[in-house]
Amino acid sequence: MSDLLKMTATQARNLLLKKEISSVELLDAYQTAMEETKGLNNYVTPTFEVAKQMAMDADKAYSQGTASSLSGLPIGVKDLFCTKDIETTACSAILKGFLPSYESTVTSKVWKSGGVMLGKLNCDEFAMGSSNETSIFGPSVNPWSKKDGNNLSSGGSSGGSASSVAAGAALMSLGTDTGGSIRQPAAFCGVVGLKPTYGRCSRWGIVAFASSLDQAGPFTRTVEDSALIFSAMAGHDPKDSTSASLKVPNFSKAVHAGIEGLRIGIPAEYYVDGMDIDILELWKKGRAWLEQAGATIVDISLPHTKYALPCYYIIAPAEASSNLARYDGVKYGKRIEAETLDEMYELTRADGFGEEVQRRILIGTYALSAGYYDAYYLKAQQVRRLIKEDFDKAFNEVDAILTPTTPSPTFPLGAEVSDPITMYLNDVFTVPANLAGLPGISVPAGLSKQGLPLGLQLLASHFREDKLFSTASAIEKQAEFSLVPPRAAGDLQ
Ligand code: GLN
Repeated sequence: MSDLLKMTATQARNLLLKKEISSVELLDAYQTAMEETKGLNNYVTPTFEVAKQMAMDADKAYSQGTASSLSGLPIGVKDLFCTKDIETTACSAILKGFLPSYESTVTSKVWKSGGVMLGKLNCDEFAMGSSNETSIFGPSVNPWSKKDGNNLSSGGSSGGSASSVAAGAALMSLGTDTGGSIRQPAAFCGVVGLKPTYGRCSRWGIVAFASSLDQAGPFTRTVEDSALIFSAMAGHDPKDSTSASLKVPNFSKAVHAGIEGLRIGIPAEYYVDGMDIDILELWKKGRAWLEQAGATIVDISLPHTKYALPCYYIIAPAEASSNLARYDGVKYGKRIEAETLDEMYELTRADGFGEEVQRRILIGTYALSAGYYDAYYLKAQQVRRLIKEDFDKAFNEVDAILTPTTPSPTFPLGAEVSDPITMYLNDVFTVPANLAGLPGISVPAGLSKQGLPLGLQLLASHFREDKLFSTASAIEKQAEFSLVPPRAAGDLQ
């Protein structure tokens, strides 16, 4: 039945409940799509056998009336989540062969809710990058690349997670967002990407990049599906001291709540030089759509926005340099033998880490070193506070903020990789939310003149993902983005 790939998770779940389709049948369709889209380089470790067992268990649960919210739904996982006894590499040579003896909290919650694991998905090495090109497996390819044209980037770092959902090779997927790694690839691939509030989902068992910024979140085709899977991922975890002990509300209700009377802020500082004209027009359209749906638009100011990117590129590498110190050739994965211990460390780390990761470790170590700590790291932390205060003030006036997700659509692979600063500019609209710990969502809202997807971003105050779902759903309805990319699996077309 070829329509299986065309269903949203919510639709698939309804048919599973009515026993009109089975989990095994659904999985078969997705596994065929994974084979068909192999050229997109999304799955670094497919888990065919595990998936079969999980799908059979889900069918049993449906027949016994014990099915949970995600039972039988095929889900891909960024290779940054530790999965018990399944290779977890963070797409780095240094972790090749690492078989975790534990399962991350978020993935175990998703499996407990009945989700079916399709496999581990490609990403930038240790989630550092905006194009998926720092992965040791090579880049994920964007399914919006023309059949006979250049291969385009899926974005990063969760490129494989975004591309697989857009291409019909995963119904939903999991990613992480430290500075934009869910929202930017979601925008580039034309899918919905949610970065929850810092503390909403447990970070336990996720390979750490920058611990004060990292959050797990889902990729889906619709806002409703995002609320469905997010409800299963969220919640307090005693194993993560930064996870919030708050009740998880019913997010699915928020999707249909409407936005009558909500106030939406448009920040003046997000009009940046060099922004793509198509994006500017789409942003205006988004504003009009929300107005038509009953919201009031308010012009606001976030005066410290221009410091967000430099601030992020001090704090994230500083935390990364400390987190990555554990890969020393002793505890995990790769080791290059040598005469002395110091030499072993040096050779292992020089060989195991790629260029971008080494760059971040150098920047981070420098920013944290005695003599520079006050000038860089401490200063960046102070600026971070000002950025958060800008948002606190804004959210006294508005319920949500509307911005573009990225300043441009995707680009050909290879176009930006040799220029780190240009690459870092991809994150200009996404990093502020991470610095302030706020939730953000990217919704596909239109195409550029060249036929490439563009996303709009909504931000809300801490733990108000419900408002993101209501406003994102209003955009989704008006944008009517239901296009299928040229390189999607055959049955999705
Ligand atoms: N592109 C950003 C970086 O390279 C963000 C990455 C992320 O969110 N993991 O740091």
